[in-house]
Amino acid sequence: MTDLSRRSLVGLGMALPLLGHINWANAAPFAATTNTGPTRINYNESPWGPSQAAREAMREGISLCGRYPYDAQYRLIDLFAGEHGLASDQVQVFCGSKLALQHAVMAFTGPRSLVVPEPSYEAPAEAATGQGTQVHSVALDARHAHDIDAMLAADRAAGLIYLCNPNNPTGTVTPREDIERLLARKPAGSVVLVDEAYIHFSDAQSCIDLVKEHPELLVLQTFSKLYGMAGARLGLAIGQAPLLQRLEAFDGQNVAAAPTLLAGLASLQDRQLVRQRKADNARLRDQTIAWLAKRGWRCTASQTNCFMIDMRGPGQAVVERLAEEGVLVGRIWPSWPNWVRVSVGDEQDMQRFRAAFAKVTG
Ligand code: PLP
Repeated sequence: MTDLSRRSLVGLGMALPLLGHINWANAAPFAATTNTGPTRINYNESPWGPSQAAREAMREGISLCGRYPYDAQYRLIDLFAGEHGLASDQVQVFCGSKLALQHAVMAFTGPRSLVVPEPSYEAPAEAATGQGTQVHSVALDARHAHDIDAMLAADRAAGLIYLCNPNNPTGTVTPREDIERLLARKPAGSVVLVDEAYIHFSDAQSCIDLVKEHPELLVLQTFSKLYGMAGARLGLAIGQAPLLQRLEAFDGQNVAAAPTLLAGLASLQDRQLVRQRKADNARLRDQTIAWLAKRGWRCTASQTNCFMIDMRGPGQAVVERLAEEGVLVGRIWPSWPNWVRVSVGDEQDMQRFRAAFAKVTG
């Protein structure tokens, strides 16, 4: 394995012990995109980072850091709830939606199983496996949507059914009527979790409105993707109050960081942000997919900031060859070993991806 590809796998967790050696006074300001170093289109992050308004709000938030920022958290909850016609006790804040996912697994499974699509975001299955809960993986259907009937049939006593819409890693959308059908026919007492981490990039309709009529529906959204705040850690859980209270048992009235909360508020208040970034992402994604299609490569019909390419052979080798060219793309999923996930970066990232891809497949 090359040094570059090893670094790509190391991730921040292993880099942390080195931070003690950095002279912060001289450290260059962090930019979401730099012209040096590898092209990072491997974690479905935003190439644009927090919006300008969010950055200013973060600076303002520093002065609030001496106290627990419950006031900012309540303001964020009230704003989001108001925009969706919900009561404030139907929205809960988490330090990233992954935490909410893990708590949902702890709260709603255990002796009862977890049903997940495959391939999909692995965090819920990992949390379930970690606590010894049975996991039923159900392959996506021919459209790369969730196979709702198979998920319903997987375990009529399931504790939690996880849907990811749009799905990571394929970027594909499951039609709203399929999700409504699942809600209507789900096993009694099982909770349905719709993870909408990527909803802002897509034309899919959010399931948030369905929360009002479904006491066992939990919807998660995050500020990590379109809003460009992966490093600030902010996610929201939306559900009826008794359902959220079952999550709270593991969260204990937690509060996110003040700069993060103010940046979340500023992001929601920015009326152009979703429209603008959605359009930029779609243009860059569709251009790249068209370029690949012209050369005979098949991709998933993505509506998000990532897509998968069918390499018609072991995808891992392509990931490693691209890393040697300085382009870090996402990984393969063991159930889809020939497909490689690519995140959508900015113009320059995608140009570099095309050059490297042409070289390693040429
Ligand atoms: N859900 C999905 C589908 C994801 O792909 C991710 C991150 O990649 C998350 C949740 C976690 O996001 P967060 O940064 O809010 O913890």
